[in-house]
Amino acid sequence: MTRICCVCNKIEFHGAWVTADVQSGAGPLSHGYCPVCYDNELENIRLFLRERDRGRISPAPVVPTKDSVGACAL
Ligand SMILES: [Zn+2]
Repeated sequence: MTRICCVCNKIEFHGAWVTADVQSGAGPLSHGYCPVCYDNELENIRLFLRERDRGRISPAPVVPTKDSVGACAL
């Protein structure tokens, strides 16, 4: 199975992450992050959590309950 980065679309080929045309028969794909994109996403998460903890980002939207489902006014 070929691993492909869900951000940059590089594929792992013999331990290296390379740009490739996956349309040309790469076989089954497994999506994930290459090391560069993984580090970038991890930093984005850290920044988000830091800003959230400082109150600069609103908390996550309220999850609908069984009482609120269907109460949407259009
Ligand atoms: Zn990547």
